[in-house]
Amino acid sequence: MALPHLLYPAPAIGGFDEWVHANYQHHLAVLQALRTQTGYPFTLYSIFPAPVSDQDIATWLEEHAQQHSDMCAATGVVSTDLSSVDFKDPSQRDSWMFYHYKEHEAVAQALRLTV
Ligand SMILES: [Zn+2]
Repeated sequence: MALPHLLYPAPAIGGFDEWVHANYQHHLAVLQALRTQTGYPFTLYSIFPAPVSDQDIATWLEEHAQQHSDMCAATGVVSTDLSSVDFKDPSQRDSWMFYHYKEHEAVAQALRLTV
């Protein structure tokens, strides 16, 4: 799924699940490029399927933040702390989604990814 789908989840029911899947797909593409370009076996953390409970979300945020930390460190992209956000707060959610998207975009550019 293309990068623009990562900016914000669709507001419809199931939108968050689709966003988590698109995010996962892009992380797989990044991981493949990192492994190919560096020869280093970068880790795929537990970022799919979508979290359900608040506890699952907290765990997912930690795992996903580690995924970002690794890819940003490997590509020299300045990373933001994505390990905590209240998705029920529209302001926090939109801010988090924006910074999250910008990291995917910057890493994709660094790796010359076309997806
Ligand atoms: Zn991500």
